[in-house]
Amino acid sequence: MIKAFLRSGFVLLLTCLLGMGVSNAEKDPSKKKKAIRVLMVGGGSSHDFNRWYKQEDVATLQKDGLASVDYTDDPTTILAKLPQTDVLFLTNNQPIQDDATRKAIFAFAEAGKGLVLAHPALWYNWKDWPEYNQQLVGGGSRGHDKYGNFEVVITNKKHPVTKGIPATFSLDDELYYYKIDPSGTPVEVLATAKSPKSGEVFPNLIVVKHPKTRIVGVCLGHDAASHTYEPYKTMIRNAVKWVAKK
Ligand SMILES: [Zn+2]
Repeated sequence: MIKAFLRSGFVLLLTCLLGMGVSNAEKDPSKKKKAIRVLMVGGGSSHDFNRWYKQEDVATLQKDGLASVDYTDDPTTILAKLPQTDVLFLTNNQPIQDDATRKAIFAFAEAGKGLVLAHPALWYNWKDWPEYNQQLVGGGSRGHDKYGNFEVVITNKKHPVTKGIPATFSLDDELYYYKIDPSGTPVEVLATAKSPKSGEVFPNLIVVKHPKTRIVGVCLGHDAASHTYEPYKTMIRNAVKWVAKK
């Protein structure tokens, strides 16, 4: 009697487990996350865009199907590509001259689509487009320490963009003198770097608190030393994921 009872209980439990298994399996196809469609824009001066953005960072972002990246170094192609883009990843320091494209980038942000702005794109690149720095970068950089070693300190360890990144790490790069523009979009600092030369502390990883969308600014990224370095790779993957609201 007891045996029969236990057996029927066991059968019931098994049925439940199998049922859960089936329903999970059924859910799986819909659960499978779609790759984030990233448009990465490079090109300009002082950097090997093809090697470190087009090759290295594209591979970093596409690993494990996180993103599907379309890289371009032709800013005239941005306009047509934006409708199929979830995240705009700007690394360029060549000008984006076309007015319609500039407007479309602002509209992209207004529509809640995410942006990641990396290294060269955090510079004050365009005298005729101050709105770019003011509204999308929340400031910018006009100088940097000579390429060399410095330490990066994560100041907000709880933010999704800093997840899995060591609390402090050091690397060779250009320490950007990123400064917040008090009249620009507010900025939240996630990591800082102290200049070994001057002792001055600069934001090194930021969130630009745009009212409609998510924007992350990554100051690192001059060459191989950052692009092949695990904390940097984690940073850009986290950034793309977070701005895409995934
Ligand atoms: Zn650089």
